[in-house]
Amino acid sequence: MIDNTFPGKDITLDDLATKIPLAAKKTAEHKSVFEVAGVKFGGDVVPVFAGPNTVESEAQIVETAIAVRRRGAHFLRGGAFKPLTFPYRGPKYFELREEGLTYLSKAKREAGIPVITEVMEAKYISAVAEVADILQVGARNMQNYPFLEEVARSRKPVMLKRHYGASLRDWLGAAEYLLYHGTEKLILCERGVVAPHTHRAASRFLLDIQVVPAAQEVTHLPVAVDPSHASFWRPWVPPLALSAIAAGADAIMLEVHPKPEEAAVDPLQAIDFATFDALMRRMDAVARAVGRRVLDS
Ligand code: PEP
Ligand code: MN
Repeated sequence: MIDNTFPGKDITLDDLATKIPLAAKKTAEHKSVFEVAGVKFGGDVVPVFAGPNTVESEAQIVETAIAVRRRGAHFLRGGAFKPLTFPYRGPKYFELREEGLTYLSKAKREAGIPVITEVMEAKYISAVAEVADILQVGARNMQNYPFLEEVARSRKPVMLKRHYGASLRDWLGAAEYLLYHGTEKLILCERGVVAPHTHRAASRFLLDIQVVPAAQEVTHLPVAVDPSHASFWRPWVPPLALSAIAAGADAIMLEVHPKPEEAAVDPLQAIDFATFDALMRRMDAVARAVGRRVLDS
């Protein structure tokens, strides 16, 4: 935070007072604490959202929901509506859309776990809100302001993913739209930014760990981290998840699949149940070292 009056990519004191008064902290200790479906955000426990990139079938999502719940996940994730990079759909790349929502709802009931899932268009907000406990606004919609207004009017809890090209100032501006138009429970999620050096030909983003303390310095909103989308590479997901917990992340989103190499979308980044199990314990150990925990017991 810089005490100047020049608008730009960094947040000024004037921004805090006049552009993001709802997202800005009121005091140094100000931190939002709220519950969604019995899960507390902003408290000592760091909630974990886990599940596949895409809802592929009833069996896949029910099996994953039960497996991640049993291993301590707090929320099931999985997209029924997907922002895929190319328009072609077929047996390899698909979205189940409304059918996927019915499978998510079955998985939620059978596993007894709340659901976070993406909504991409205003016309589907009410259908998605019937199964979702948290509406996910994806990176690509972060600055779709009319859409954010509609999402806020639903009054549902929201997780706002950071666009991979957005500054913290842009991201908090988008968060302010949601708060201004009626969202009361809002989580931010860092998911990797575009950078010239990403360390592997296939990796597109760099996890901005630094944004966790930077955001927490100016906003009271919980800050989640998604190391799966940030790294695009399975072996890097555990170390990045651990570093996010160490940096003070308030929630973690992880892609977990029964057979990661067969995942319909982003097969390189999902982890299997055994890796997830070990990672939950290691995240819990790191969280305890910084005064928090991941596992409820
Ligand atoms: C996702 O979480 O499924 C997703 C599409 O993420 P992002 O919007 O961060 O790309
Ligand atoms: Mn994805």
